[in-house]
Amino acid sequence: MNLSIKKGYNKVKRKIYKISHPHLGDILMLHRVVSNRSSLADNRSLEITPEFLEQTILKYKYLGYRFVSLDNIYEQISKKKSFGSKFVTFTFDDGYSDNFELAYPIFKKYDCPFAIYVTTGFMDNRVCTWWYALDELLCKHKVLQLSDGTVYNCRNIDEKNQTFEDIRARLFNTSSMELKKTFEEWFSAYDYPFEQQTKKLALSVEQILTLSQDNLCTIAAHTETHPRLSVLDYDRQYHEICGSKKYLEQIIGKEVVHFSYPFGDFNCNSVQILGLCGYKTSTLNFGDDVRKGQSFYMLTRKFLYH
Ligand SMILES: [Zn+2]
Repeated sequence: MNLSIKKGYNKVKRKIYKISHPHLGDILMLHRVVSNRSSLADNRSLEITPEFLEQTILKYKYLGYRFVSLDNIYEQISKKKSFGSKFVTFTFDDGYSDNFELAYPIFKKYDCPFAIYVTTGFMDNRVCTWWYALDELLCKHKVLQLSDGTVYNCRNIDEKNQTFEDIRARLFNTSSMELKKTFEEWFSAYDYPFEQQTKKLALSVEQILTLSQDNLCTIAAHTETHPRLSVLDYDRQYHEICGSKKYLEQIIGKEVVHFSYPFGDFNCNSVQILGLCGYKTSTLNFGDDVRKGQSFYMLTRKFLYH
């Protein structure tokens, strides 16, 4: 098949799929809401301003979308019931404290449901938010020297972005359990307050409890140490998926039934474990509209950024 025929064929296939699988709504994926966004490209892409969040809510209101919770979406898809209009829900990954401080008041103002997928290891410092520690170190220094002798020039924003990319690539194959130790060791000469920084960025137990007592907020799980699930064996995956659920349930005194895959990464074991642990849904970190016929454990999301 030549390229243009193949392109035409795929276009028709996509059109048929869209007709047979109508657009039910959108699950939006966010991470942080901050007043001052990072100057580093990667971290900046995780952040939106409170004004942008408010504009997005108003846009969906104007378009006539119905604001729903993850439970509502599960009910609609499982009972094949229609809301009568398209739905939208806002979801946050990782569990940053700004979700409570800046986003929550906006959702309250518009009576708008939202969910937070919490990485429980951030709360008890088993894992660190290294990408924001690196952000601060890069802002402060023009050269970074790691304990293994590697030297990075970071005199301007291009070099800072490049250094961020290089260090992230080096960490890519480090297991989530080892990552904190490796990163902190590399920067041991900088006397950086890693634990305080993660504590400042992550939702506290009290904030999670307060959020859980408001029907607008769904507390959901995002593993314990934010690993790539597909590289873990079955037992380790079970621990990450079920452990984070139990940890959160102990804090909020309610069942946790929604999950999102860190990095959108999973395999057939992950799906099996989700079912065994009693999760109703799991979301990906990619995709587009939610369409009829999607699996509960592979709900697509739209990445919200500006
Ligand atoms: Zn995440």
